[in-house]
Amino acid sequence: MPYCSVCDTSIDLEATPTAPFCSDRCRLIDLGRWLDEAYSVPAPHSLDELDEEESEAPASAEADADE
Ligand SMILES: [Zn+2]
Repeated sequence: MPYCSVCDTSIDLEATPTAPFCSDRCRLIDLGRWLDEAYSVPAPHSLDELDEEESEAPASAEADADE
């Protein structure tokens, strides 16, 4: 019998539409944890890429004004 990874309640996979979680609440808790981890990991490389995209923005704005 599998167990909910959030609250360790045993789950009947066939009777539990929210499997592998025991309930929708636990599913959301796990999702929240996952997102929290994703956002708390610093990604300096992504920030560098964002900066480059921003410096390229004026060029595309010029092309738009040309039309
Ligand atoms: Zn649970």
